[in-house]
Amino acid sequence: MKEQNHSDDTIISCEGLVKIYQSEGIEVMALQGLDLEIKRGELMAVIGKSGSGKSTLLNMLGGLEHPTAGKLYVNGQDLFAMSEKEMVEYRKKTVGFVWQKSARNLFPYMTARENVETPMYFYGGSAKEHREKALRLLEMVGILDKKDSYPAQLSGGEQQRVAIAIALANDPEILLCDEPTGAVDTKTSDKIQSLFRKLNEELGITIIIVTHDMNLANKVGRVVMISDGKISTEKILKEEYSAKIREMGKEGFQDFGDSELSHEEYSVLDRAHRLQLSEEMMEKAGIDSNKVKIEAVDGKIIITRE
Ligand code: ADP
Ligand code: MG
Repeated sequence: MKEQNHSDDTIISCEGLVKIYQSEGIEVMALQGLDLEIKRGELMAVIGKSGSGKSTLLNMLGGLEHPTAGKLYVNGQDLFAMSEKEMVEYRKKTVGFVWQKSARNLFPYMTARENVETPMYFYGGSAKEHREKALRLLEMVGILDKKDSYPAQLSGGEQQRVAIAIALANDPEILLCDEPTGAVDTKTSDKIQSLFRKLNEELGITIIIVTHDMNLANKVGRVVMISDGKISTEKILKEEYSAKIREMGKEGFQDFGDSELSHEEYSVLDRAHRLQLSEEMMEKAGIDSNKVKIEAVDGKIIITRE
């Protein structure tokens, strides 16, 4: 299935993705020419206000929806040039999903182990193999001791761990998470965050987390901000903080507060070299008009309030 002519580093590449929804005769442009590259083995977050297009993007990466225009390559393969059959394979084998309300999708009358085994029936293998794999996955997500518990006997965080184990049942290359900590408290969010980091490091799986939980977003390697259906700014975690977070994963997290210290902020230029500034930056620079002065000085472009 895989094509040869792509960089092995890049697992996902979005080019000018456009998604228009028709709703009661009104067109909603959920994605407006989104460009994004994701490296194999990245652990990254996508943040943005409600309605900015985060879930739309995730659904497309998961092959659940088709773009209105634009290209989406996964492993160098044009996702939307695939046949319906290849698409089903893609959803089954390449991606795993974790939702905010994953817990609600657990079968209430099945134990944690049985829940994790369920999707495995679609992929062959013996009942014994399924059981062993389910136990391995439950151990990996840290709730092996709850293997015989029913969802109602588990906390929200534990239910989410079962959901993550289910998402891993088909050994996906990419884990897509939509607001995975949206329904849990900060402490649980921190624990789920260290679990994502562990899975990313141990399995080498690419993890994309859509969230408005800044506590979570600020602790991953790269945070891209989506606004009006486009990537606007990007923050990269500084190396020294990466090490700190790894330590904190063992001892418990602390909040960095302002991400200004821990991250380097970048603005993403689109093909017409358009640049977007985050509201945070605008505020810090005291810019409140829609016109700014720009000048190139010593290899830098300086933007100042008019
Ligand atoms: P987010 O996840 O960032 O909150 P979404 O991707 O869900 O945003 O939605 C982006 C925009 O597209 C919103 O304006 C939303 O109302 C609209 N939208 C999303 N899904 C549909 C749909 N199935 N039909 C019509 N409009 C939709
Ligand atoms: Mg959403």
